Amino acid sequence: MKKTLLSSLFVVAILSISAPLLTTQNAQAKTVVDDFGNTIEISDKYFNNPPSESDKKALTEQYQELQVAINNPNQQMGDLAMKYFQNYRTVQSYVDMTYNLNPATFQSKKPIMTLIIGEIGSLSNFIDKNSNGGLETDNLNIKSDDYGAILKPTDLTVYNATEKQGVKQALQTTFNAWDSPKIHFRFVNSPDDARIVVRAVDSKNGNFEGSFDGSMTEVSVYSTVLIQANVNISPELSQLPGDDPTLVHTLEHEFGHVFGLTDIL
Ligand SMILES: [Zn+2]
Repeated sequence: MKKTLLSSLFVVAILSISAPLLTTQNAQAKTVVDDFGNTIEISDKYFNNPPSESDKKALTEQYQELQVAINNPNQQMGDLAMKYFQNYRTVQSYVDMTYNLNPATFQSKKPIMTLIIGEIGSLSNFIDKNSNGGLETDNLNIKSDDYGAILKPTDLTVYNATEKQGVKQALQTTFNAWDSPKIHFRFVNSPDDARIVVRAVDSKNGNFEGSFDGSMTEVSVYSTVLIQANVNISPELSQLPGDDPTLVHTLEHEFGHVFGLTDIL
């Protein structure tokens, strides 16, 4: 729901290290451009949650306020526009903040305004984006910088690309640990059917977290909905037996990031 300009900037760095994968190779799929600018396919069966008429009306009102705000960047915005701009009072103050936080990224403030205008887009684009693209998200809201929902979190398919038995066992423990009415992970036998791929990669390519030889990287996000992700662990971890506490803890930690848990462990 709340994809911010800032998060889309930070994502560029992550993207360059994770190869985009197609979600399905199935003929009954919609081809879309995801939030990272990659062309992906999403199976038609997931587009079953269109916005209601009242949602559309509310988003139309917000869109109209945003157009006024953008055309008058130094004036106090309306409440609906402010909500979009993280409660900044003027568009200019939001642009200034963005510029000051990313001095290396921008030569000037002008491209930031261009990005904002592009991100809001046309009315139909705005409604689509802020209704999770009509995708099935099981009404679960996620707190992540880059996405606000997950595609069908009650059925998250996982492929173990390490092909290690120990990893498989540790993954099963992880699935059991996180299982709830809202989150359910299960194995599939092909990466084409998987929304999460577990890989063994070296530390250079893994972009590992400080305290773990592991990471979670988003592969595709569409209309602020997480479509695909990789969970990466080091080759050393992938060799460990399935009940090794470090292997289990690392996988549980990284899978927690999939549904928006932050680094408090
Ligand atoms: Zn973490």
